[in-house]
Amino acid sequence: MPELRHDAISGRSVIVAIERAARPFVFPTAPASGTEPDDCPFCAGREEMTPPEVQRTGDGAAGTEGWRVRVVPNLYPIVGGAEPHDPTGAKAFGVAHGATPIGGAHEVIVLSPGHEASFASLDDAAAVEVLTVIRERVRVHLDAGHAYVQAFINHGKAAGASIAHPHAQVVALDLVPGAVDAAIDRLATTDLVARELTDARRDDLVVVDGPAPAWSPFAAWVPYGLRVAHRSTRARVEDATDAEIRVVALGLRDALRRLRAALGDVPYNLVIRTAPPGRPAGEFHWHVDVLPRTTLVAGFEEGTGILVNVVPPELAAVRLRDAVPS
Ligand SMILES: [Zn+2]
Repeated sequence: MPELRHDAISGRSVIVAIERAARPFVFPTAPASGTEPDDCPFCAGREEMTPPEVQRTGDGAAGTEGWRVRVVPNLYPIVGGAEPHDPTGAKAFGVAHGATPIGGAHEVIVLSPGHEASFASLDDAAAVEVLTVIRERVRVHLDAGHAYVQAFINHGKAAGASIAHPHAQVVALDLVPGAVDAAIDRLATTDLVARELTDARRDDLVVVDGPAPAWSPFAAWVPYGLRVAHRSTRARVEDATDAEIRVVALGLRDALRRLRAALGDVPYNLVIRTAPPGRPAGEFHWHVDVLPRTTLVAGFEEGTGILVNVVPPELAAVRLRDAVPS
């Protein structure tokens, strides 16, 4: 019997409908990556193909090989494009009547020189370094006066990645998105992340335990959706200590390895949820959502706003715990 569940943290409702899983084509498990590295602008040795880099870890001068993690402006930014770059001539249209110009910045963080790498394949030091660089870029953009910074990883074409080479993105905005404001409101008086983790332990939904556990949310929106958070109740990722960044990075990496072991190299979105700076954040608790994209959001979801998850989170947790990471 399908069940309606409510995700208190996101405010979304989900129908957990295992019956739907019997349909064919529920898991179009095309590999997440697929493009050839021949003309990849993020591979080592092709540094001239990106805009001038803004940060790196590792060795070598800017624009040369030797880096481990490399940050460059996004050539096709959502916000904050350099004025001269207008390959489609779209800027000739100006700002439409009734619209508001939106400023910001959009960067790519190349996770590894290796084209076939992914967050799941990173060793401990590399995984920690990647999340440390993400925290650093969030700090840089907030220090520059932007109102909010969204950090995320789109892994695989079906999850929105246009380049297969593993990369994260940070988008700094000159406004706080309404969805973020709403999340702060939901967690104004109760740390719902800590509460969900407590419930997850009771209900046997924890997938990777430790100081930064990964668990299957009771109302996961998508099959095998995961949530990862440090047990501390810090509101903002930019305030996370090195020790916290380390355990969250490793918890995430281990959760992604289990996902890969259970399902193969499925596409996913990894989204960092954090509170905006400079204002009270109530009991908000920064965390990471991992959303495997094995099903489509389609007409029912669009019309009703109710998501449909065909794999009960209880079952997903068992399968992910039983998976043997390589
Ligand atoms: Zn590449």
